[in-house]
Formats: sequence, C-alpha cells, structure tokens
Amino acid sequence: MFDVTITGGGLAGLALSIQLARAGYNVALFEKDTYPHHKVCGEYISLESWNFLEELGLPLSDWNLPIIKKLLLTTVAGQTIEQELPLGGFGISRYKIDAALADIAKAAGVQLYVGVKVTDIAFDRDHFRIETTAGVFESRVACAAYGRRSNLDIKWKRDFIRRRGPRLNNYVGVKYHVQGPFPADLIGLHLFDNGYCGISRVEDNNCCLCYMTRAKNLQLSGNSLQKMEKDILSQNPYLKEIFSNADFLFEQPLTISQISFEPRGQVEEHLLFIGDAAGMIPPLSGNGMSMALHGSKIAFGCIDAYLNGQIARYEMEQEYTDRWRRQMNRRLLAGRFFQRWFAGKRRTNLLLYSLKPFPKLVSFLISQTHGQPF
Ligand SMILES: Cc1cc2nc3c(=O)[nH]c(=O)nc-3n(C[C@H](O)[C@H](O)[C@H](O)COP(=O)(O)OP(=O)(O)OC[C@H]3O[C@@H](n4cnc5c(N)ncnc54)[C@H](O)[C@@H]3O)c2cc1C
Repeated sequence: MFDVTITGGGLAGLALSIQLARAGYNVALFEKDTYPHHKVCGEYISLESWNFLEELGLPLSDWNLPIIKKLLLTTVAGQTIEQELPLGGFGISRYKIDAALADIAKAAGVQLYVGVKVTDIAFDRDHFRIETTAGVFESRVACAAYGRRSNLDIKWKRDFIRRRGPRLNNYVGVKYHVQGPFPADLIGLHLFDNGYCGISRVEDNNCCLCYMTRAKNLQLSGNSLQKMEKDILSQNPYLKEIFSNADFLFEQPLTISQISFEPRGQVEEHLLFIGDAAGMIPPLSGNGMSMALHGSKIAFGCIDAYLNGQIARYEMEQEYTDRWRRQMNRRLLAGRFFQRWFAGKRRTNLLLYSLKPFPKLVSFLISQTHGQPF
C-alpha cells in the first residue's frame, strides 16, 4: 500500500512526486514512456517557475539556458508587434528537463515505474486500486497527471471527451528542433490562417519550432504537413523565411492530434487531477508547464494535510479544487479568449493593427495568461 500513486511522469507528476517523497511519503509514479524522450511542446517556460524548479533540485543557473525577454508577434499581412514580456521566460527542451526531474525523483526515493501504462484506477473503501501493465497497486491517495488526453479519459468517458466539437475544428500540434540565426532573448509567435507557430531557443543553440493548427488546414493540404507548411504557414513571410532557411534537426517532426481546450474537473471519483489533465490552456499563452508545476505545489499542500491527519478526504478534495481554480481560472479564460481571436487571418490583422499603438495594453493582456513566482 503506497501513500500516493501518480499516473503520468511529465512535469506535473514528477514535481509532485519529488515534493511528496521529500516529505517522507511512500510514492509510486507510473510513466508509460521511457526517459529521455521528446514531446510536442513549445519549450518556453515562464520565469514564474524558475525558483520552484531550482528548489526541486534542477541546477538551472548552471545550464546556461537562454533567457527570453521579448515577444515578436507577426501576421500573414506582415503586421508585427515587438514587446518586452512582463515577466519573461527561459528555453529548455522537454528531452532534458523531464529526464532530469525523473533522476531527482528516483534519488528522492520515488518508486518510478517507467514503461508502465496505467489501464484503470478505482476507489473502494478509502483506498485506490491501480491497474497497470506491470500489475495491480494500491494507495491511499491517487493522482492523475497523465497530460492532455489519455487512454483513461476515453475509458472513463470524461466530460470533455463527450463534449468534443466537429473533428476538423480540433487542433493538431507539430514540433521540430531547428538551427538558425534566431536571437536568444526573443520568442517569435507567427500567426497564420487557423493557427500559430512559436519559435524560441532551448539549450545547445537549438531552437524549438512548434505550431498548432486546426485539423481542417491539414485536410485542405491532403494530409501532408510539408504541403501545409508551404501553402498555408508560409503565407506568413516570417515563417516562409524559417521554413526555407533553417536546418531541421529531426528526421520526422513530432505530432499530436485531437487537442481539446474544453474545461475539465480537478477531482473526479476522489482522484486528484493535476497539470493538463485538470485543464489545458492554449499554448498561445506559453504557460501550460508553469500551470502544471504550480498545480503540483497546490496538490502537495492538500495531500500532505490529509495524510498527516489535519483534514479529512473531502476537505482535501474541496481545498484542492478551490485553490486550483483561484489560481488558474483567470488564465484559462484569457487563454481561450486569445485563441478565439487568433483563429482567422483577417481578425488577427485587425487585432494587431489596433493593439500596436498601445504597448501597455499588450503587456497587460499577456500578463493575464501568466501567474506570479510561487
Ligand atoms: C503544441 C503545444 C505547444 C506547447 N507549448 C508550450 C510552451 O511553450 N510553454 C508551456 O509552458 N507550455 C506549453 N504547452 C503546454 C505544456 O506542454 C503542457 O501544459 C505540459 O506538458 C503539461 O504537463 P503535464 O505534466 O500535465 O503533462 P505531460 O507533460 O503531457 O505528461 C503526461 C505524462 O503522462 C504519461 N501518461 C499518459 N497516459 C498514461 C498512462 N495511462 N499511464 C502512464 N503514463 C501515462 C505521458 O506519457 C506523459 O509523459 C504546449 C502544448 C502544446 C500542445
């Protein structure tokens, strides 16, 4: 019987497991993949997470990571806004950060089950039964940190799966690592019809190029990424330049599909959901990783209070839901609002044209999707 089991070893699950193990709890974490591995992600982390990650044990200051202070926003019509970011961020690949956190978790005493997929979780008489490809486990508390969409969401028919909109309105995500003359202190956000593409530096002079587009763009391009990049993304002159001249380092891009930003529950059947599994912010606002990390800190406080007898289970669940919503709801709403505005090329041109004379307003809008250091 573990004190806590965690399904999913991304940022949310790993950060939570480290905090719990350091507080003396017996923790098991199940991750279906192995470390290190690449993930579809823009790899820009808001600076609000810097101190927290260092407290977890990541030597960020020693890694000479690019610190990103400016945003360049561009449209198909060639409109641009360049703006200081209110807080800023840093670039690091998921390949590096997830694996480094997994090493810290192991050293802290977390039982890390790598290459093990969770197939079901059930609550029965005050404890959980976790079915996995490596057998059955039990725990007093169970957390779901399995990301934006998992086999378990489908098995349990979670609300956001049932509320799915038209297939071609769903989003597809694509990521490459590239090399080229990109400034280290700038994140480029290049808009195109029904999508946007972020590019910024990570470690080792590489850049992460990651875009999201509606599935209908892919269908219009005969399901060919290359054709879509040439015919649709490259209508934006900045993207045309990047796709023509950058050195692409992966043989094949990484892709994901069926990305949904529908609201989700933070506690269901006594299970605590953390990170994207609890709610996903559109990547446009570049802040999902910090939300996942901050969510792990909130969950840790509530679980610790329950396990050491200060509060009952229902109080832990209520406290987690309340604190999560207080911290994240504003950002989620702002992120969804911007995503809607950035959907079509006419609207984005109008928006940039109207905002350009008001840098303070742009700064204020960006800050609505970000939090404070925690
Ligand atoms: C296109 C795109 C670009 C983005 N860009 C940025 C950005 O620049 N900055 C930013 O801050 N955020 C960005 N995000 C968001 C960010 O990637 C997520 O918010 C973050 O990864 C959430 O972390 P997580 O730990 O919740 O989930 P994940 O990192 O997805 O981790 C979940 C883990 O659970 C594992 N798992 C799933 N199911 C099971 C199972 N049944 N059993 C065992 N293991 C399982 C998975 O293998 C995975 O490793 C982007 C997202 C997308 C889609």
